[in-house]
Amino acid sequence: MHHFDYSNGVLCAEDVSLETIAVEVGTPVYVYSSATLERHYRVFCEAVKPHQDHVFYAVKANGNLGVLMTLARLGAGADTVSEGEIRKALAAGIPASKIVFSGVGKTAAELAFAVDAGIYQINVESEGELEALSRIGAARGKRPAIVLRVNPEIGAGGHAKITTGDAANKFGVSFSEAERLYAKASNMPGVSVKGLAAHIGSQVTEFSAYRAAFLKMRGVVENLRKQGHPVERLDLGGGVGIPYEMTHPYEHGTETLDAYGDMIRQVTDGLDIELGFEPGRVIAGNAGILLTKVLYINERADRAFLIVDAGMNDLVRPAMYEAYHEIWPVRQPEPGAKSVAYDVVGPICESGDTFTTSRSLPAMKPGDLIVMKTAGAYGASMSSTYNQRLLVPEVLVKGGDYAVTRPRQTYEELIGLDRKPGWL
Ligand SMILES: *Cc1c(COP(=O)(O)O)cnc(C)c1O
Repeated sequence: MHHFDYSNGVLCAEDVSLETIAVEVGTPVYVYSSATLERHYRVFCEAVKPHQDHVFYAVKANGNLGVLMTLARLGAGADTVSEGEIRKALAAGIPASKIVFSGVGKTAAELAFAVDAGIYQINVESEGELEALSRIGAARGKRPAIVLRVNPEIGAGGHAKITTGDAANKFGVSFSEAERLYAKASNMPGVSVKGLAAHIGSQVTEFSAYRAAFLKMRGVVENLRKQGHPVERLDLGGGVGIPYEMTHPYEHGTETLDAYGDMIRQVTDGLDIELGFEPGRVIAGNAGILLTKVLYINERADRAFLIVDAGMNDLVRPAMYEAYHEIWPVRQPEPGAKSVAYDVVGPICESGDTFTTSRSLPAMKPGDLIVMKTAGAYGASMSSTYNQRLLVPEVLVKGGDYAVTRPRQTYEELIGLDRKPGWL
């Protein structure tokens, strides 16, 4: 379910025309719907009841301040993977007591920052990190709460690059080491080990992998309890997939998330443990679009390139993950309008800067607007200034209002990022 639809022949985000945003903010631009974000967060919480107080939104999916503040208002926690994300979550009003910190390569400075901030939980991913964190905690006379991230050796996800739970992936301690390291952690002076975590991948649409991985995790919890460890927390990560290919009008969310909730209840039945969740994509994905303008149409004998003003630096998913994004024209096509198969490409000097090939769209002309749908997650958050392009702006819509929650960078800011060496 999302809130991007045609009204009087023009595509709108909630009650705001995307033509208006294109004129007033310019293109390319990301546009997010508050109503969609709120709805997805609520549906997720409903699905994982009674553990709705431990839903930690994965900031890396979309860390825009407006998005974070919208979710913070609803009581969301944050799953973070860097000091920058912790700071951003705090700046958005998410209290430290609702922040968890994941990631394989947390630096000593980042761990110290997290300990000083008093965040809810640090998800420790290796023995080296465990030792480093315990030293940092002990030096401060603190015992930060940790869970041990275990690699269940069952991966899943929409693409090899977003699968994290395979034995070959870098994430978490190995399954066979989990119990030994848990016992070790329980004897360390600078940490307080509370439980386990797993995150097997992203864009997971087949829940059988979750089921298998979570049952393995349950087995570890039960073994540890037999050994006398009071395992209190089990963080089940994120990764719930969303449909990228859709028909219009389109309903999504409740059904998938109900099934996810049912699966969770089944695999944890009778375990008596505090569950945690780290959803990212399923909250933000369908809540955002990338609005872009057609610059040129380069028609060759055998194909037509639709050259738009957004590039792979603004939305890298197609280039990086071979991802599919639905493309809609902002002007609703007349019934029976002529359609053309376009290769939709950006201005970047890379052949990989191709959003799609041979996509059937209504015949376009320069100046027309299109949107890449389902771009709210891993869109703007992965954008860059490659080719010295200005970082893409972001807009948050609420009803009939909108706010520019990240203005387009200026050329002064872009150039000002660099410094001259003293000898030049
Ligand atoms: C990326 C990530 C998530 C979020 O994944 P989604 O697919 O966006 O739900 C959650 N937890 C961890 C540890 C992650 O790295």
